[in-house]
Amino acid sequence: MLVHHFLEYYARNTPDAPCLSHGDTHLSYGEVDAAANRLANGFLDLGIEPGQRVAVLGENSIEHCLLFMAASKIGAVSVPLNYRLASAELAFVISDANARILLVTEGVERTLEALRDLLPAGVDLITGSHPDSLHWDAWLERFPATAPRVDVDRYAPFIQLYTSGTTGNPKGVVTSHYNLLQLTLMNLIATPRRPQPGSAGIVCAPLFHIGGTGSTIAGIFNGQHTLLHRVFDPEQLVDDMENNPVTSIFLVPAMIMAILKLPDIDQRDFSQLQTIFYGASPISETVLRRAIEVFQCEFVQMYGMTETSGTVVNLTPDDHRRALAGKPDLLRSCGRPSVGVEIRIMDPEGKAVATGEVGEIWVKSDTNMLHYYNLPDATADNLTEGWIHTGDAGYLDEEGYLYLKDRIKDMVVSGGENIYPVEVENALAKHTAVADVAVIGVPDDKYGEALLAFVVTKPGMSLDVDEMVEFCRDKIAGYKIPRQLQVIDELPRNPSGKILKKILREPFWQAQGREIG
Ligand code: ATP
Ligand code: MG
Repeated sequence: MLVHHFLEYYARNTPDAPCLSHGDTHLSYGEVDAAANRLANGFLDLGIEPGQRVAVLGENSIEHCLLFMAASKIGAVSVPLNYRLASAELAFVISDANARILLVTEGVERTLEALRDLLPAGVDLITGSHPDSLHWDAWLERFPATAPRVDVDRYAPFIQLYTSGTTGNPKGVVTSHYNLLQLTLMNLIATPRRPQPGSAGIVCAPLFHIGGTGSTIAGIFNGQHTLLHRVFDPEQLVDDMENNPVTSIFLVPAMIMAILKLPDIDQRDFSQLQTIFYGASPISETVLRRAIEVFQCEFVQMYGMTETSGTVVNLTPDDHRRALAGKPDLLRSCGRPSVGVEIRIMDPEGKAVATGEVGEIWVKSDTNMLHYYNLPDATADNLTEGWIHTGDAGYLDEEGYLYLKDRIKDMVVSGGENIYPVEVENALAKHTAVADVAVIGVPDDKYGEALLAFVVTKPGMSLDVDEMVEFCRDKIAGYKIPRQLQVIDELPRNPSGKILKKILREPFWQAQGREIG
């Protein structure tokens, strides 16, 4: 089985069923499959061979999905690029990946101008309009809509996604067909209300990260109608949720927070929505409880990373119900391993620690990546005997629930105590004046490191240090309470909604000459 087989299956059985919509463009399964065949035949005409990289750059678009499916059909490897990167960074990734094709969609006209002169030789450019490129529509028309005949191995790479670059430079993660197919199986079992063929889902997460790509491909696996949003826009999202039979959606916590801020949110109609999948960064219990109240649907938390093709641990709807019925601690867990997934908690020497003790989370899963592209050292450091070293700290409880503490690189050591800032952020998020919060370690003469809280306050509200300290007193141990506070307008986040703590830390550590991870 290969990724595009699902598209072909629905194209055969329900060719007229809606598959993808984007703005005013609506394509059925039959149409998407035919267009993907044309594109695959076009790639063959350009001499693309199995294993070669084909890149796509732009805001979320139907072309992204066509490229994923066309590449799958001929054994080429899709490389969706982060359009927020500067042109020089993009040129680096394109040449690092040895991309043979660059398909450019919308929203990146300015970047493309700058990028054109930096492109390595031998890259074929395909755009909607650019004069020096193969013009998308006219070019595609030349090729037949019949499926190409290429033998593709299911363990061969399917996609190369870059990590979010939260802790360092993004790394190219090479993922096979088999990895993604196992992911589907795992998700199927973890999600009691499987999205049904004919129902709709919205994808508003970027298609160059696993959250967006994973949910788009899952939509095709499930035979759903996927409404692709160019970018995340809370108003448009809620409108589309009300006006379409949208039963499921993947949202990162930052998106949930933005939706909950809409002024008329309590009057909106979410009666069709069955499941919200959420994850990718920590969610505060305050936000989660409010979301449960507003959306009144099933919630599934997902924990995973690009290196594991996405979700490997789930907090299921049943777990959420258990939490609300008297086991509130469960809301702080990201759940239990998906089928076939093993989790180990390891000390820095690579030995397993006891239940309840904190260490690095290691994951063994059929969804684990093949390797990082062109990074043998990073691969050797992070993938040993099939185990991914996640870089996340956490512990397992007696029932096998996983609790995340924080990223190991974000841990603060103050006066010899290990402090995981996420725990402090969760306490501060309970304050009525706090809209958003990030806690970091800054240099301190006495304790080595001290905590500093960056707080975004709600409109018309304020918070000072004394009040913050007082508020935290009965919630967290004294040494975990920040004694410094900065109120700011907005926290720096990357497109997957992750707070970029390296940016917050930088000004404080530069003077110390310490490298900021
Ligand atoms: P980089 O590896 O380049 O620093 P990144 O780790 O942010 O970037 P991704 O692979 O997109 O890149 O993200 C995976 C990480 O996201 C996990 O290792 C974890 O730290 C965080 N994460 C994922 N799911 C959750 C979740 N449910 N709750 C909290 N954090 C999560
Ligand atoms: Mg990572």
